[in-house]
Amino acid sequence: MTYDLAVLGSGFGGSLCALIAKKQGKNVILFDKSTHPRFAIGESSTPQADLMLAQLADTYELEYLKPFASYGSWKRNYPDIPCGPKRGFSYFNHQPDGGELLVAANMDLEHADTHWYRSSFDTFLAAEVRNAEIPLIENVEVNVVQSDDHCIQFNNESIEANFVIDATGGSNPLNIEQSQNIHTNTRALFAHFGGVAHWGDLHPNDKHPFQSHHSALHHIIEGGWMYVLHFDNGVTSAGFVLDIEHHPITEETPEEEWERLLGLYPDIASQFKQSTQKTPLVKTTRMQRKSVRCAGSNWAMLPSAAYLIDPLHSTGNAHTLFCIERLMHAFLNQEPLDRYEQLLFSECSLIDELVSGSYGAMRHFDSFVNFTMLYFAGADFSERKRMEEGHSHFLNSQDEQYRAVVSHWAHEARLGQPIPNLKDEIAPWNCVGLCDESKQNMYDYA
Ligand SMILES: Cc1cc2nc3c(=O)[nH]c(=O)nc-3n(C[C@H](O)[C@H](O)[C@H](O)COP(=O)(O)OP(=O)(O)OC[C@H]3O[C@@H](n4cnc5c(N)ncnc54)[C@H](O)[C@@H]3O)c2cc1C
Repeated sequence: MTYDLAVLGSGFGGSLCALIAKKQGKNVILFDKSTHPRFAIGESSTPQADLMLAQLADTYELEYLKPFASYGSWKRNYPDIPCGPKRGFSYFNHQPDGGELLVAANMDLEHADTHWYRSSFDTFLAAEVRNAEIPLIENVEVNVVQSDDHCIQFNNESIEANFVIDATGGSNPLNIEQSQNIHTNTRALFAHFGGVAHWGDLHPNDKHPFQSHHSALHHIIEGGWMYVLHFDNGVTSAGFVLDIEHHPITEETPEEEWERLLGLYPDIASQFKQSTQKTPLVKTTRMQRKSVRCAGSNWAMLPSAAYLIDPLHSTGNAHTLFCIERLMHAFLNQEPLDRYEQLLFSECSLIDELVSGSYGAMRHFDSFVNFTMLYFAGADFSERKRMEEGHSHFLNSQDEQYRAVVSHWAHEARLGQPIPNLKDEIAPWNCVGLCDESKQNMYDYA
């Protein structure tokens, strides 16, 4: 049997590609080495991710997708698919210099972004795949023999596909050469928990522009940070992300390391006092990877197949959705993928600058806050452009002036130089009054 498209990996990225292609009349097949429901990481959405989700829903008439683009409509339309509210980003510094930063990304809970409970969200999309009569072959290891028409072998069977999308999140079934050319150097330790206390209940503060736990909550520690994302079903996703220079990989078991790190930060530990672990703790080695190619004449990788930088700034899902828009447009119109590849790698290197610079600045909270404003300015500018003009590049990535400013300050931050207030530098993209010292790090939605 010959298919127009074979997609490898039925995470939200792979399922969306399959659903879009099928809606446009293509003959599609989808493979996964696992089966739904299953644990998946990559939960915190952003305004750019939500905008893209809504736009893909409109463009390809996938009406069932649109309610997922904000917290209010998700809860009304899909009360049985768990999610959590995300009013913005909050940062609490647990190093001696202390300090807090809260940045709202939306005006209220109704319009809030969400934390996706991935096992249920991905299961929903996999069910839509089946409703659309797309074959979803689960629990298989595929072998891809590349040629003009790829031959995909699985379970003693084989099919041919004119085009293959690698949406496997990095298992590299197409055997693409990898490069190590990435500044960021981090590892992670994460799981799902029950019974995690809300930071805003433990540490209420009238000055916070939103409940601090209705957010992607970041605890900044020496040489790293911890994310805490609450879902409405009582589950919390939490993980340490550690700069390997400060936290070399240890021989400890994941549980031993988790307890040791919590022991260093009693305030964070108090949040986890009554918690129970719901999924096995995952302890990674260095997370960063990047393929040397991410597209050819009859194949392409989604971002998380092509590279992984770091969860800081929640860029993964938004970038995946931007790239799905470009890739599916090119695939359906039989356009070359050179531009897709160029943009994906260009955005990957911008993310690396923004993330590695943030780690460089982290040891002084003022520097971290000042550097992070580069991310917020680029993200917000890109979001506004898309709302006004219907299109924009991810994180303002094709604006040379913006990139030069980011690269300069990322370089300084990696060298350990203090980062000053960057109000003048970000002025061309600062539509929301970032870097305003009178706000004292409390940014309400503008
Ligand atoms: C610790 C951590 C935290 C993160 N947090 C965030 C966050 O808060 N926000 C954010 O936007 N991003 C985050 N990310 C990034 C996020 O995980 C990705 O953006 C997202 O998962 C990409 O989705 P996907 O569908 O492309 O791939 P995945 O979710 O990785 O799905 C891949 C699918 O492919 C299947 N598969 C794997 N190998 C094969 C194979 N050989 N053949 C067939 N199937 C295969 C898997 O079973 C899975 O179903 C985080 C990443 C990490 C590591």
